[in-house]
Amino acid sequence: RAKAEGKGAFRLFEPGMDEQLKHRQALKLALHGALKRDEFSILYQPMVDLSSGRIRAFEALLRWRHPELGAVCPTEFIPLAEETGLIVGIGAWILREACRAASRWPDDICLSVNLSPAQFRSAGLVSTVRAALTETQLPTDRLQLEITESVLLRENRANLQILTELRRLGVKIALDDFGTGYSSLGYLHQFPFDKIKLDRSFVQNLPGSREGHAIVTAVAAMAQGLGISLTAEGVETSAQAALLRERGYSEGQGYLFSEPVSEGQARRLIGHAMTVYPVSPA
Ligand code: C2E
Ligand code: MG
Ligand code: MG
Ligand code: MG
Repeated sequence: RAKAEGKGAFRLFEPGMDEQLKHRQALKLALHGALKRDEFSILYQPMVDLSSGRIRAFEALLRWRHPELGAVCPTEFIPLAEETGLIVGIGAWILREACRAASRWPDDICLSVNLSPAQFRSAGLVSTVRAALTETQLPTDRLQLEITESVLLRENRANLQILTELRRLGVKIALDDFGTGYSSLGYLHQFPFDKIKLDRSFVQNLPGSREGHAIVTAVAAMAQGLGISLTAEGVETSAQAALLRERGYSEGQGYLFSEPVSEGQARRLIGHAMTVYPVSPA
C-alpha cells in the first residue's frame, strides 16, 4: 500500500500506524526468549456437559506476562508468534505442560489444546504430540487438538495427511471457531472431525436474536447428520445454556461456568461438582 503512493511519498504510514508497527516490532522482539525467561503460563477453561453440568474437559489457553509490557493479550501476541515461527517451540511447551497437568486429573476429564498453522508447517508436529503423550503418560484418547479452518486453507493435502496421522495416534480433532471463516462448511467433508466448536459470535445474541436461533439450530441439525458432537463457545448466561442444550449441543464453554483458571483452581473445580446453572428437570 505504501508503494502505491508512488515515488517521493514520504508518508508511508498513517500516523497511528507507525506507532502500531513499532509496538508490534517491540512485541516480536520481546517474544524471542520469553519461553526461556519463563514468561508464559497456561490457564484452563472447563467445557461442561450441558445436561449434567459436569466438567468434561479443559481447554489450555496460553498467557504471556512480560516484565515491562505486562500481560499481553493472546489475540495480539499469538499471530506474532505465528509469523515469527516462535509458536512452534511455544506450542511444544504447551503440549507437554498441559498434558502433564491433565495426567493428574481424574480419568474422565479430557484436555483440549489449540494448534496453529505454523505448527503444521514445521516438520515434527506428530512426533511432538506423541512425545508429550508418552512423557506424561496421558492416555491418547484424553487429548483433543483444536484447529481452525486456516489450517486447511493452505497446504491442504499435507495438513490433511498430518491430521490423519494425529488421529491415528488416538487423539481427537476439533474444528474451532466454527462459522467464522470463509468456508466452514466446505471442510466438514474433507476430514472426519470429532467435534465442532461453534464460535461465540453466534451464541452472543442468544436467546434474543432470531438469526442466532436459526444458525444455532441449523448447525445442530448438520452436526447431528454428520455424527459430530457440538460444543458452544462463549456461553455467558443460563438462558443461553438452556437453549443450546435444548438444540442438541452436548457441551458449553464460557464465563457462565468459569473463566480460564490456573492449574490449581482447575483441580478444585473438578472436585466440586458444577452446579453453576440450574439443570432443568428432564
Ligand atoms: P479460542 O481457542 O477460540 O479460545 C476461546 C477464547 O474465548 C479464549 O480467549 C477464552 O478466554 C475466551 N472466552 C471463553 N469464554 C468466553 C465467554 O464466555 N465470553 C467471552 N467473551 N470470551 C470467552 P483467549 O484465551 O484470549 O484466546 C484467544 C485465542 O487465542 C484462542 O481462541 C485461540 O485461538 C488462541 N490461543 C489461545 N491459547 C493458544 C495456544 O496455546 N495455542 C494457539 N495456537 N492458540 C492459542
Ligand atoms: Mg480453542
Ligand atoms: Mg474457539
Ligand atoms: Mg473463538
